[in-house]
Amino acid sequence: MPILLPESITRRSFLATAAAGAPLLSIQAQTAAETHWALLSDTHIPADTANAYRGFKPSENLQRIIPEVVEAKPQGALICGDLARLEGLPGDYQQIKTLLEPLSARTPIAALLGNHDHRKNFLDAFGQQAGAQAIKNRHVTVIETPHVRFINLDSLVQPNSTPGFLGKAQRQWLSEYLASSSKTPTVIAVHHTLDDNDGALLDAPRLFDLLAPHGHVKAILYGHSHAYSFTSWDRLWLVNLPAVGYNFNDREPVGWVDAQFTAEGASFTLRAFGGNLSGNGKTTRISWRG
Ligand SMILES: [Zn+2]
Repeated sequence: MPILLPESITRRSFLATAAAGAPLLSIQAQTAAETHWALLSDTHIPADTANAYRGFKPSENLQRIIPEVVEAKPQGALICGDLARLEGLPGDYQQIKTLLEPLSARTPIAALLGNHDHRKNFLDAFGQQAGAQAIKNRHVTVIETPHVRFINLDSLVQPNSTPGFLGKAQRQWLSEYLASSSKTPTVIAVHHTLDDNDGALLDAPRLFDLLAPHGHVKAILYGHSHAYSFTSWDRLWLVNLPAVGYNFNDREPVGWVDAQFTAEGASFTLRAFGGNLSGNGKTTRISWRG
């Protein structure tokens, strides 16, 4: 997005936007070798900080990890949907905004919408986002970094209803964007799972069809299942990010992922603090398809 940009980055991004004639947010490289990004998903922040589910208090969880994320000094952070507890109420977004402040004061934060978000309430709370694309009734952003381009999609259909859908206009925009932009390694982020369950991304097969001719799309990041996994489709990496708020079963970790992206691939280090802790600290390295 970035939801709460530091002043200097806001100014720079607007200048870059004006110069390029396209709404893009540019992030500078920390080192010449890689782009460092914090990946969060499914924070599920309620207005009521005491709200709990399966023994987890989502507000406490986010409050706990924000200092870790700040300390890691990423160049940007992504929240892969379901920022809000269930319905995306204005009070949920006020609470998450407050909890994110120690990070958002230093680091651009991009967020995309999940099935427990509310598009208007989100935009009312955080305002027009840097990198936002002109797609009617959708919140889609593009972020350029020296090594990868992030395209953050919007699969929200209706708040508090499980399935996701990109829809024809967003798919058409994506198809045209991928065809007309440079062949920078591209990572797509979307909230919903990509399987054939009734609560997944219902037009996932159409998404895969439209990605097929674009070999420069290297990975899809997603959340929704509150599980952590790496799978692939036609050598396109599918990375399921763990939830910050709570897991759905004890086999899954609760936490965030510290990621490094290069032109050749990426590495993901799990920072788990709840649920299954066996993979905490483990780094998974993946190479981009050629
Ligand atoms: Zn969720």
